[in-house]
Amino acid sequence: MYDGPIKDSYDCVVMGGGPGGSATAALVAEAGHSVLLVEREAVPRFHVGESLMPETFWSFERLGVLDKMRNSDFVRS
Ligand SMILES: Cc1cc2nc3c(=O)[nH]c(=O)nc-3n(C[C@H](O)[C@H](O)[C@H](O)COP(=O)(O)OP(=O)(O)OC[C@H]3O[C@@H](n4cnc5c(N)ncnc54)[C@H](O)[C@@H]3O)c2cc1C
Repeated sequence: MYDGPIKDSYDCVVMGGGPGGSATAALVAEAGHSVLLVEREAVPRFHVGESLMPETFWSFERLGVLDKMRNSDFVRS
């Protein structure tokens, strides 16, 4: 959890750090805009989930996280 200084203004504020919000915030930042991502829960948080559909490949490729995922300990089938 980031508890550093927060600026007075941002180009974009994203509410919710789930997959949708965190991907949006990453892409906005990648485009060179300042972004504040606000998540109400402490992270990492418990979340049920056991699989990824093949189509998610393209989103992870766009986000540039494929290598990190390939090197993770997630079970492959
Ligand atoms: C039981 C279950 C099992 C699942 N299993 C899988 C799976 O195996 N594989 C898979 O691909 N998908 C799975 N899903 C679906 C997946 O979890 C969702 O598609 C995904 O989480 C949606 O992402 P999201 O960012 O849209 O929303 P969320 O993940 O719901 O993220 C929204 C975030 O916003 C935060 N938030 C809400 N209100 C505020 C506020 N006012 N201020 C700050 N923060 C706020 C919440 O705390 C949350 O972190 C599962 C879902 C469920 C319920």
